[in-house]
Amino acid sequence: MHGVIVIHYCRYTAVIWNLIITRQKSPEKIDEMVAPYGSVFIVGCGTCATGCGTGGEEQVKAMAQRLGGRVLGWAVVESPCDARIVRRDLAAHKGELEVADAVLCMACGAGAQAIADHTEKLIIPALDTLFIGKTERVGRYFERCRACTDCALLETGGICPTVRCSKGLQNGPCGGQVNGKCEVGEYKNDCAWVLIFNSLKRQGRLEALKSYRPPKDRSAKARPQELASR
Ligand code: SF4
Ligand code: SF4
Repeated sequence: MHGVIVIHYCRYTAVIWNLIITRQKSPEKIDEMVAPYGSVFIVGCGTCATGCGTGGEEQVKAMAQRLGGRVLGWAVVESPCDARIVRRDLAAHKGELEVADAVLCMACGAGAQAIADHTEKLIIPALDTLFIGKTERVGRYFERCRACTDCALLETGGICPTVRCSKGLQNGPCGGQVNGKCEVGEYKNDCAWVLIFNSLKRQGRLEALKSYRPPKDRSAKARPQELASR
């Protein structure tokens, strides 16, 4: 296919699949965090955490049932990381939120912080945020991006060395690969740089490997970042 660029997009991504991969903390840990507070309001996530099966309606209802009488109410915000949707979806729960001692948040860290911005209540995170990932099926996820702000996928055959190389090497492979497997993790994972080589070879672009890629200069980027394009 020469001269044609294929742009992949999915208009359903935000609704059905997972982007931010999360895992529920253990029931014991959640109980320990909730114990000092008499009442909680639970907020779930209608997007990524629903896709992951960690903070959707089913999991929120199960959590409410498990925690029993201390739960004053619950809501599944369609996208807790979107401040406009947090305002919209929590408007109907203003009264319950006002009297709750704390909010048990079943969303990723970004969603939990957007909810923290919305209410002055104490936020209890029920989920651990793992990574930005690819979903194979519900329950099977692969880390694929760390939002490094300088995407290298064109030069690396569509395989991210920052994430998929255990050492985050921008040039490879290192001396630790054996038969295409990485020494880190006892040779279970594919060596990212072998994958990159094979991908570039398939694309007829092996010359890309001749360019030295300098280490990422993290000192030049102030965190947290923000973007205001309009
Ligand atoms: S290079 Fe890797 S970490 Fe950086 S934006 Fe691209 S996929 Fe994400
Ligand atoms: S073996 Fe490959 S994936 Fe593992 S650290 Fe070395 S270059 Fe990275």
